[in-house]
Amino acid sequence: MRAVVCDLDGVLYPFAQDFAKWVEQPNPTFDNWSFYKDWGMSTPEFLDHYAEGYAAEAILHDGEPLIPAALIRRQIGLWQREGVEFHLVTHREIIGQYESHVARTTEQWLFAYDLPYNQLTLSGDKGDHCESLRRRGYDIVAVVEDNPDNLVDMMDGAHAPGFLIDQPWNQLWSAPGVTRVATFDHLRPIQTIIERTGMQ
Ligand SMILES: [Mg+2]
Repeated sequence: MRAVVCDLDGVLYPFAQDFAKWVEQPNPTFDNWSFYKDWGMSTPEFLDHYAEGYAAEAILHDGEPLIPAALIRRQIGLWQREGVEFHLVTHREIIGQYESHVARTTEQWLFAYDLPYNQLTLSGDKGDHCESLRRRGYDIVAVVEDNPDNLVDMMDGAHAPGFLIDQPWNQLWSAPGVTRVATFDHLRPIQTIIERTGMQ
């Protein structure tokens, strides 16, 4: 079975925007991975705000997708019609929350926007997750991320090319085998890979 393995926050879900709104950050900037540090916030403070915002259903609950849901559905549909599964993998570790609760919240958001997927996995080690999929017989066509470190881990685990979603926090980065695309609906090269590998 073939699959595309894809991250959620910063690819489809507007986590950073949710967070900025929750802490009422005026003119938020997102120029590096730890964007909250630019706002004078420590990591423990960030995690506290994250947990509070999640509990208040202001974070991870009802953010508008980063691109219109119809475009996301169309992109995933193109892959699934070729028999390729769409797997979501997300860290979403929130202190004080049960994983099952966060998984349910995530499923509800995907359902609300009618976004199709074959598997949703909460994992802090996405490279390991890709490797275990591969060991279970999956042929991973491509991996998609907005976080460069995760992307490299996933490419290693999946033995697959990586696609980086362009974001302010990943501007100063590039790596061999990685294609940077503007948004999720610009993943046409994955379609080309699917068509090519489908003919083998
Ligand atoms: Mg992400």
